[in-house]
Amino acid sequence: MSRSGRHFLQIPGPTNVPDRVLRAMDHPTIDHRGPDFAELGKRVIAGMKRIVKTEAGEVVIYPASGTGAWEAALVNTLSPGDKVVMFETGHFAWLWDKLARKIGLDPQVIGADWRRAADPAAIESALRTDSGHEIKAVCVVQNETSTGCTTQVGEIRAAIDAAGHPALLMVDTISSLASIDMRMDEWGVDVIVAGSQKGLMLPPGLSFNAVSQKALEAHKTAALQRSYWDWAEMLGPNANGFFPYTPATNLLYGLAEAIDMLEEEGLANVFARHDRHAEATRRAVQAWGLEILCQEPRHYSSSLTAILMPEGHSADAFRKVVLENFDMSLGSGLSKVADKVFRIGHLGDFNDLMLMGTLAGVEMGLEIGGVPHQKGGVGAAMRYLAETAPAH
Ligand SMILES: *Cc1c(COP(=O)(O)O)cnc(C)c1O
Repeated sequence: MSRSGRHFLQIPGPTNVPDRVLRAMDHPTIDHRGPDFAELGKRVIAGMKRIVKTEAGEVVIYPASGTGAWEAALVNTLSPGDKVVMFETGHFAWLWDKLARKIGLDPQVIGADWRRAADPAAIESALRTDSGHEIKAVCVVQNETSTGCTTQVGEIRAAIDAAGHPALLMVDTISSLASIDMRMDEWGVDVIVAGSQKGLMLPPGLSFNAVSQKALEAHKTAALQRSYWDWAEMLGPNANGFFPYTPATNLLYGLAEAIDMLEEEGLANVFARHDRHAEATRRAVQAWGLEILCQEPRHYSSSLTAILMPEGHSADAFRKVVLENFDMSLGSGLSKVADKVFRIGHLGDFNDLMLMGTLAGVEMGLEIGGVPHQKGGVGAAMRYLAETAPAH
């Protein structure tokens, strides 16, 4: 395997960390109880409120992976035995459901075939039958990273409102935040779950909750056990820029830089860039004659594309060919779709030529691996990128 040049990390998270972020983290760790830290703490909390688009809500930052923030969302707002509605869009929605059961909640799972996003009509009808308001929360994954299907969060809010139901709306944005639009206040999202290592372009190690005033009200009476994850413990010191325990200081340096980069580009431009790279990728897949796992074009993800292997061909064997020949990592199929799909991550710190390198690696890998396909995917993507070049 050629080890010269840069590794292509085209899994849908962790993503490529920009040099600016790496350099921003390359500083001595400071006293997290001292005055310099307070400034950093306030800066990143305020920045994250702008990224999730909330003025009314609070943001909590944990030194943890995204899974920790999943747990935090639930234990801060709910009580043992509470009913929650979850929509099984794929592997990550399924894991969140498993976590909910382990901590003593009673999820009602709306099953699906892992080829589409959460269905607002199904959620509305589940809420309509709950006239006693026993359901305390609706939990959806905005971008299901295992399938490449994106749920329209505004439509889920509209469904909850149409049913006239008071349930909290909780949204996992781990692979969508800063890649696909999130409007926390406008869409009435009560708890956002996010992670550092995907659209936010940081290494793994930070996760986030963004919390509405309604969720903070629910927190006051929520009886699930919590200590490390307790929002109240966090929000007290956070008001002055501090944390109740040692924060991941150097990751916070990186976060401040990543927020600057996103705001210099402009969030709307960041989302348009992701949309354009996703469309170019789909044109390549179409030209190859392969099938996209997500079956509803309006649910196509802008942060990754999951592609079905032709019958009788192993996705993992194909990914191995690409890794060994071109030093590129592609995402694997998870649980139910293991070995059946591979995933191309096109999120985070990414540009046209990185995408072209990625697609060229896939097309060459298909040839070397003997996977039946038609040529011309790279050309189709190139034509689309040229036609839609921003300065065109
Ligand atoms: C990556 C991911 C997770 C898991 O996050 P960890 O940081 O691995 O704990 C959860 N949900 C979604 C949608 C993800 O993409």
